[in-house]
Amino acid sequence: MAKVMTINSGSSTVKFKLYEMPEEKVLCSGNCERIGEKTGIFTFKWGDQKEVDDKIVFPTHGEAAQKVIATIKEKGIIKDFSEIEAIGHRIVQGGKYFSESALFTEENEKLIESLIPLAPLHNAAHLACYRAFKEVLPDTPAIAVFDTAYHQSMEEEDYLFAIPYELSEKYSIRRYGAHGTSHQYLAQECKKYLGKNKDPKIITCHIGSGASITATRNYKCVATSMGLTPLGGIMMGTRTGDMDPSVFNYLVQVTGQSAEEVYQMLNKKSGLLGVSQISNDSRDVYAAFEAGDPRAIRTIKLFNRRIADYIGQYYVRLGGCDILVWSAGIGENEPRTRRDVCRLLHDSLGVEIDEKLNETIHGTEAVISTKKSKIKVVVIPTDEEVMIARDALRIATSLKEGKK
Ligand code: ADP
Repeated sequence: MAKVMTINSGSSTVKFKLYEMPEEKVLCSGNCERIGEKTGIFTFKWGDQKEVDDKIVFPTHGEAAQKVIATIKEKGIIKDFSEIEAIGHRIVQGGKYFSESALFTEENEKLIESLIPLAPLHNAAHLACYRAFKEVLPDTPAIAVFDTAYHQSMEEEDYLFAIPYELSEKYSIRRYGAHGTSHQYLAQECKKYLGKNKDPKIITCHIGSGASITATRNYKCVATSMGLTPLGGIMMGTRTGDMDPSVFNYLVQVTGQSAEEVYQMLNKKSGLLGVSQISNDSRDVYAAFEAGDPRAIRTIKLFNRRIADYIGQYYVRLGGCDILVWSAGIGENEPRTRRDVCRLLHDSLGVEIDEKLNETIHGTEAVISTKKSKIKVVVIPTDEEVMIARDALRIATSLKEGKK
């Protein structure tokens, strides 16, 4: 038995979970929010208990790390820090360097630092958080688990953009994708539905506020929708997804805004929010849709069609599809999106779901396709943390065995 901690940090948050492995039992979890602001929020859950402190102050990630570790000990969840075998840190951008999870060494830390320009908000925060936990737990192996690693198996034709090749080479410009840990988890969870299938073809739809679709063959990623950054691919809560790149230049010209301002608008004010002018939350847009608001109707139709387009593209890329997976906030909880996209796939791909059953599925695993459907359709709640814990334990264990 071993205890493994997972850390998912952002510029102002640190989410954590402590697992008992290999049982994958969550011993405690929580969140440090509003780091760097006047007051923070600390949430800690263990067993069936929960505590929230909204008077706490977290000037930096360092204070957040100290609070997390101290609370775990204070509540008697561990007696000694040495019980924690490994810490797995989620890292958004691993660039071309990491096709799998890796131990934090000085060299790997430098590589992650060199990728900050590709993920300015994320990688800098991840490193601040890694360093903060290293101060508190200097002897515990720390493992970096990359959102991009799963997508490194793509072929050049799938990851290259059609810009002058020397620029792609010089600046490492390519499709890196994101949500890789989630897509890999979902693909592995499909094994139980695929029986002895020797060449399984899987399309996973991670549709949350950020959203991406991945094509997996034989449990390896062959294509994914997000691009150099998470701005590419399908339409999202506030991001455009793919569009003609000339829109960018034209907007700079006609609005008089700077390139940076337009870029921020494409990231933060577009997608569901921008098209509907109502909200970035699909629940609000659907409420307006039901009330007959034409802006919401337009938005939902656009959103669904982009998802269906990508599924069609990946069907061709894979040469078929055995299983289509819905996951993340919208994929797990919004039957209308699943229903409407599957209807769009009916005539061409023979997808058919049990619409009555579909309506009852909110955040639980279920097969929603009918027996007649040419593709099995399932809802699977994603679990990125458990993948991080598995990888962290695997690498820490091999490190320990290597040292013996
Ligand atoms: P992210 O991790 O990218 O922030 P999530 O996967 O948490 O996003 O998804 C958030 C989105 O999922 C929300 O904006 C909302 O549109 C949708 N969502 C979450 N819960 C529900 C629910 N119970 N019913 C319908 N939609 C939901």
